[in-house]
Amino acid sequence: MENCIFCKILRGDFGTEFVYENDYAVVFKDINPKADTHLLVVPRLHVESLNELDDEVLLGKLLITVKEVTKKLGIKSYRTVINTGKEAGQEVFHLHIHILSGNIKF
Ligand code: 5GP
Ligand code: ZN
Repeated sequence: MENCIFCKILRGDFGTEFVYENDYAVVFKDINPKADTHLLVVPRLHVESLNELDDEVLLGKLLITVKEVTKKLGIKSYRTVINTGKEAGQEVFHLHIHILSGNIKF
């Protein structure tokens, strides 16, 4: 989507480094980390939030991506968070899964 910050990151507009990527999603560091490691798993498809996603394959692949990237980085203990909707704290309306590990301030 034209004005979506995560779509811009996906397009490479800011040169953001991807710590992991596969056919379904990219993973990059949160700009304002709330833990020693704070990553965002972002689907390549623009979907506003979990409420708008019914694709079972993509839903599964996003969790598999969490497992793949944490395994790759040797992270065994972590918290995953999905904020859905403004009142729940969602600020970027392109679905993403937070991965937090170590000194979590959330
Ligand atoms: P939400 O509150 O929507 O669940 O989470 C959005 C997250 O995206 C926040 O933790 C925020 O720090 C992060 N974020 C917002 N803009 C950018 C950006 O331009 N680059 C990166 N790496 N993270 C961002
Ligand atoms: Zn987007």
